[in-house]
This record gives sequence, structure tokens and C-alpha cells, in this order.
Amino acid sequence: MPVTTKKAKTKLGKLQWRNRNKVLGNNLLKIRASNKAKRYYTKLARQHVHIANIRLDTTQKMTTDISRKAALIRIEDLNVSGMIANHKLASAVSNNCFYEIRRQFTYKQPFYATRVELVDRWFPSSKMCSKCGHIQPMGLSERVYRCGVCGNIQDRDENASINLRDAPLNKIRLA
Ligand SMILES: [Zn+2]
Repeated sequence: MPVTTKKAKTKLGKLQWRNRNKVLGNNLLKIRASNKAKRYYTKLARQHVHIANIRLDTTQKMTTDISRKAALIRIEDLNVSGMIANHKLASAVSNNCFYEIRRQFTYKQPFYATRVELVDRWFPSSKMCSKCGHIQPMGLSERVYRCGVCGNIQDRDENASINLRDAPLNKIRLA
């Protein structure tokens, strides 16, 4: 799900760049914040809140929409803290609000009579061919799965979601 914060983030970036020399003061260096600097940091904080609100709103709509339409929701039990520690993945994960999405699906279960299941984080949902079960390395940037055994060519997410749907029961637990 592409989170629609792009415009707000661009604005944030411009704001930060234009004001890159403004500081809020430093006791040790005996620098006092100018009024312009104070105004800027208030504005900056507001822009961060604005982005957070867009994210929450978008994920709330998405999780409600899916919860209304589905009976069973199966998601990967991704190692979020481990992924955040990995810098390449950090922005992708936080941008997709993975943990927040999982939390929303979980608490919405009683409202929509859904059942949320987590698939073991070591289950090779992306590396496995959903047609023949062959497992091969799959780079993070590869968007298409090309099976070296049966020749299956499939969208990365589509292949992974079929594998999650068909995951063996011993790899699944309730959220
Ligand atoms: Zn295959």
C-alpha cells in the first residue's frame, strides 16, 4: 500500500532545507534561539504531526476496508525491530506502518468478525515458488518472481500472498 504522504514529506524536506541553519539555541555555545528559529521549529513539529495524521488516516481506512471484506486476514509476523535496525529496510517498513497496520487489524477483529493470523517470520513466503514450492534467493528489490525450476513468472507480492494463504498450520499463530 503506497502511503500518501509524499506531498507532505516533500514540503517537510523543503522546510528543513530552507531552515537548515536555524538552531533552537545551545547553552554551551551560548546561542539563543531567534524568533524566526522558534517559529520554524513550531512549524516543523506541526508538519511532523500532519504527516503522522495522514498515515494513521490512510491505514485506518485500509484496515477497516479489508476487515469488512475478508473473514481471514493472514499477515507476515515480520521482525519489525530487526528490520528497523537494518537501514535499507528501515524507511520501507516505517513508511508502510507495518506494526500499526497489524495492530489495527488485530483490534478490529471483534468489530468485523475477522480472524487475524500471523505467519512465522522465517517462513520463506517471498523466496518460495507458489506453483511448485521451489525455494530460491530473492533480492529485496526484485519485483517479479522467476522460478528456476518450473518457470513460473509472477508478481513478487502476488506470489508471496499465495504462499501466506497456503502456509502450513505449524507456521501460523493467532495475532
Ligand atoms: Zn516453480
